[in-house]
Amino acid sequence: MKLVFLGTGAGATFGSKRMKASIYVKGTNTSLVLDMGTGSNFKLEDLGLLAFSTLFITHLHIDHFNGLFDHLVQRKLRGLPQLKVYSPHGLSEIFDRYVKYGNNILAEITESDLPTAEIGEFQVYSVKGCHSIYDVAYVVSDGKKKVLYTGDTAEPCESILSEAEKVDIVVHESSCLDDCSKWGHTSLKQLLELFPKEKLILTHIPAQIEDEVKRLAKGYNIAYDGLIVDV
Ligand SMILES: [Zn+2]
Ligand SMILES: [Zn+2]
Repeated sequence: MKLVFLGTGAGATFGSKRMKASIYVKGTNTSLVLDMGTGSNFKLEDLGLLAFSTLFITHLHIDHFNGLFDHLVQRKLRGLPQLKVYSPHGLSEIFDRYVKYGNNILAEITESDLPTAEIGEFQVYSVKGCHSIYDVAYVVSDGKKKVLYTGDTAEPCESILSEAEKVDIVVHESSCLDDCSKWGHTSLKQLLELFPKEKLILTHIPAQIEDEVKRLAKGYNIAYDGLIVDV
């Protein structure tokens, strides 16, 4: 599978250097998207990646789902098939408000505490993360390789650490340099201590600290918008 990073900024990113959280996962016959933060909708269009069937949302912070609504308008305009969306509880309520106030959008939303689904060649399941609001992390497998995408989480988070041992790649949020646990996030310092370099891809990085991140995590895989990784 290929990971295309559409948005790699944190909620606290300034400017448009990094769009907000989103990853496109491309398989042989199927593609799906993990989170759709602000701006990821533009990246999908720019990169010609509109042909995906399913979106998985980790949690209902704006930087992880705000791009969805603009994308649904584009889908409607282009006559694309209805999008399936898996999410923790609450997304339908937000979606219904948009519709109630006159937005002509459609989506098939499935809410669950721990979303799981089989989409073509992909098996997707979730485990609970450790964030300031209810949040899940997703594991995506194509039968050959497994990728864990954390969404937002404060480490050490037992469920995530235990999944991390079973996967080939961990795409992990990296929201600050030293300590952001009080906001439910993981620092770069913790990541470097907890995960092996060869497994880790850092994302969810505030653009304003990225030079420091690059300096301190030299030799690590640091995601940027548009990065493509073969897994
Ligand atoms: Zn976030
Ligand atoms: Zn969050």
